[in-house]
Amino acid sequence: MAGFVRQVVVVGGGTAGWLAASYLAARRPELTVTLVEAPDIAPLGVGEGSWPTLRETLASIGIAEAEFLRECDASFKQGSRFDGWRDGSAGDSYLHPFTAPPPEPMAELLAAWQAAPQPLPFAVAMTAQAAACARDLAPRQRAMPDYAGALTYGYHLDAGKFAALLARHATTRLGVRRIAARVDGVKGCVDGTIAALQLADGTVVPGDLFIDCSGQAARLIGGHCGVGWVDRSDVSFNDRALALQVPVAPDSAVAAQTVGTAHEAGWLWDIALPTRRGIGCVFSSRFMDEGAAERVLRDYVARHLPDTDQSALTPRLLSFATGHRERFWAGNCLAIGQSAGFIEPLEASAIVMIELSLRALIDSLPVSAAAMPVAAARFNELFRYRWERIVEFLKLHYLLSERPEPYWLAQRDPATVPARLAENLQLWRERPPSARDFPQVDEVFSAASQHYVLYGMGFAPPAALPQPGPAAQRRLAEVAARARAAAAELPTNRAYLAMLRQSPSALAGASSAP
Ligand SMILES: Cc1cc2nc3c(=O)[nH]c(=O)nc-3n(C[C@H](O)[C@H](O)[C@H](O)COP(=O)(O)OP(=O)(O)OC[C@H]3O[C@@H](n4cnc5c(N)ncnc54)[C@H](O)[C@@H]3O)c2cc1C
Repeated sequence: MAGFVRQVVVVGGGTAGWLAASYLAARRPELTVTLVEAPDIAPLGVGEGSWPTLRETLASIGIAEAEFLRECDASFKQGSRFDGWRDGSAGDSYLHPFTAPPPEPMAELLAAWQAAPQPLPFAVAMTAQAAACARDLAPRQRAMPDYAGALTYGYHLDAGKFAALLARHATTRLGVRRIAARVDGVKGCVDGTIAALQLADGTVVPGDLFIDCSGQAARLIGGHCGVGWVDRSDVSFNDRALALQVPVAPDSAVAAQTVGTAHEAGWLWDIALPTRRGIGCVFSSRFMDEGAAERVLRDYVARHLPDTDQSALTPRLLSFATGHRERFWAGNCLAIGQSAGFIEPLEASAIVMIELSLRALIDSLPVSAAAMPVAAARFNELFRYRWERIVEFLKLHYLLSERPEPYWLAQRDPATVPARLAENLQLWRERPPSARDFPQVDEVFSAASQHYVLYGMGFAPPAALPQPGPAAQRRLAEVAARARAAAAELPTNRAYLAMLRQSPSALAGASSAP
């Protein structure tokens, strides 16, 4: 590893690998990017909910939005709705939308919200997005430029088709070289860094920087570099999922949010694509066995999609380790994707962590051999911070619940609650979460996300709030007006996606390399 980084080698052809190869090739055309994927090890093939960051990522890779939507069977995602998380009673539901509350101090917004004679649900009062989600509306109109929206949005997508689109784009338009072979060994330098990969077919692939996107196998970061795994299952209990894909009628509504429904030992996801619903039961193997989880899953399908012939559906079991690496960048090897870590699918934070890793890496390049340890140390500090915040934010969803089942009681056991989260709650009883609690650039879950979960779950706002002022009241009135306008102006998701398929001109100008 002499001089500046010129040759980057990515190991793994799942979502992480192809995003990494595409992003690096598009943003740093001077690099030579090679991706090695084992033909006999299938990628995970799940991961259907993205964050709004994916719009910027796709734009910078040079994929047109219409092409992405069509090729990946994608639809718009505007947030997550949580059903049954508070106590499981009828009507127990709240939304965590992507659009932040109005730009007024949260204490003043809370005062104005509470002063209403009949306060609306928190998200309904704070953003027009709640009205759009309730009506299955798209967040944008067709005439808008690519990736622009009236409301903030990400996507629901078919993970297999997404990796295939990225692979095609990377190899045909961005010059990425693809090698289908298993990495069998690593040739090291005397300083402990990686000099080359030894493939099963005997090929040797040299490189300056190696990106480990080999999923749970963590072939380089764990297997070669020996970087340890920080187990977080003491805080985050879920370690299994049973996933189903249920075909839907071509004229059925396409929901604008992921729906997460709590059950006795975990929760179910429900993600609407134009052609199918991805439905999965996430559970903790300490509290539920696979048979019981399948009953919970099938019962959900029977209630929500009663016309489905369930005899034709076989759920797929996914087991996952809960935690993250001690370090994510060791020597000249970076772990991105599942090889770096995974904390259950609640709030869909994995793809966004892949994107944030790539942004941070690009900011660090060019990296000479001399500067690489410094870049690695900064990267590790930042991502250690991010994993900690994810663990805390996901735990918040469970901690605020009043559900009585043993799993939920165990989730609230103070011994399982990270110290910083417990401290935050103490503070937030007296003042709402603020940007100062989350001071990093690109926080995965900002103060706004904490507001939506806290007040959606019924957490009591501070007793000492200011008098409701005219500015905050005006803001909430504007939200109500925008919600009415959105309902009148935006097409439904289904109508938008049908239009896209009918008019080939929608794809005009697709895929211009940046
Ligand atoms: C149940 C579940 C639901 C999820 N839902 C979401 C969601 O809604 N949103 C979200 O953002 N994320 C979600 N995720 C996470 C998401 O699926 C992953 O982060 C994403 O798929 C990235 O995976 P990956 O590319 O790191 O690994 P993988 O998809 O596992 O790919 C690994 C690749 O490495 C290759 N490989 C392995 N070993 C070798 C070797 N020795 N040599 C060469 N190649 C090798 C394999 O062939 C494969 O191509 C979910 C995860 C689970 C388990």
